[in-house]
Amino acid sequence: MSSNLLKLLLISTPVGPLGSGIGGGVELTLLNIAKTLQQRGHKITVLAPEGSVVESINVIEISGNLQIMAQSQDRDTPIILPPDSVLENMWDYARKMQNNYDLIINFAYDWLPLYLTPFFKIKILHWISMGSFSDALDLIVQKTIEQFPNTIGFYTKTQAETFNIIPQNFTCLQSGISLEQYQFCATPKHQLAWLGRIAPEKALEDAVLAAKITGIPLKIMGKMQDESYWQKINQDYPDAPIEYLGFLSTNELQKHLRECQALLMTPRWVEAFGNVAIEALACGVPVIAYRRGGTAEIVREGETGWLVEPDSVEGLVEAIKKLDKIDRLWCRKQAETEYSLEAWGHRVEKWLFEVIQS
Ligand code: UDP
Repeated sequence: MSSNLLKLLLISTPVGPLGSGIGGGVELTLLNIAKTLQQRGHKITVLAPEGSVVESINVIEISGNLQIMAQSQDRDTPIILPPDSVLENMWDYARKMQNNYDLIINFAYDWLPLYLTPFFKIKILHWISMGSFSDALDLIVQKTIEQFPNTIGFYTKTQAETFNIIPQNFTCLQSGISLEQYQFCATPKHQLAWLGRIAPEKALEDAVLAAKITGIPLKIMGKMQDESYWQKINQDYPDAPIEYLGFLSTNELQKHLRECQALLMTPRWVEAFGNVAIEALACGVPVIAYRRGGTAEIVREGETGWLVEPDSVEGLVEAIKKLDKIDRLWCRKQAETEYSLEAWGHRVEKWLFEVIQS
């Protein structure tokens, strides 16, 4: 395969610059795909909104207005593009420069790139980073899969199933991280972690209540996306033992995370995957998550964490009491065997070659 090196154009999410955290897990996913494919010898160029901060990857910054996040819209909201849209500008660049590349990989959760697929001369793969939210997007995903089978990649089966599509025509690739960036910790402090965008779909309030009931301090890290939502949590639980540490770099994040007894994952929505789950496992931190969405495909019950009835704070509390049954070494081992950058790069590369040869 290494003689078959590809020139790849990766087109980022238009909701925010890389490194801003606005894009959530897809930012880490794109960077790690770029990194692992570059390590395998492929030539990588990333197109991303202006202000993107990326180390050791060739990034072309594109100006324009950012896209509104899909999860803040209703299912039947028509397709929206702001004037001078960065999404439009990135795809205009891609159209003009396509002859310089073998393949494009799209990371936008948007209608436009899927719609444009048949108009390009080169093949386009689409990484779909969230579950179904919009009727218009569902339809164009279904159409694209019918016309170009296997060009749509999802994190998990649970996520893909929300789109109502034919199972054999798509690919589930999970995710992967640079394990050397996360240090194993065998002896945690008396504290729990919660990571992610601070936004209603993540239901931070459930983890805060679990911290209040158990009296175990909760360290909160992540992008402050909805300030009024955060204020309301503080008003509702003024005496909960919580601390917000800010939106941290991967290195800072893992320093705090590894010292926690567990990561609490409390999504109200169908989480496509949950990159934070594998970051926790890489540090040897068990994951306590609602049995909902892609995260339920990650956690090995009783071995690397506990799955809890969705929306049950009582369930979270009971699981916290059972943390002594989890061997933290098993958590790290699972990350090493299933989510290393090498293992993931292999899965992604196989997908690219299957599409290019089809
Ligand atoms: N994250 C971060 N700094 C923080 C907290 C979180 O960089 O302080 C990143 C984390 O590494 C992960 C992302 O935020 O990549 C959250 O992604 P996830 O897939 O868990 O959820 P999403 O935001 O995509 O719904």
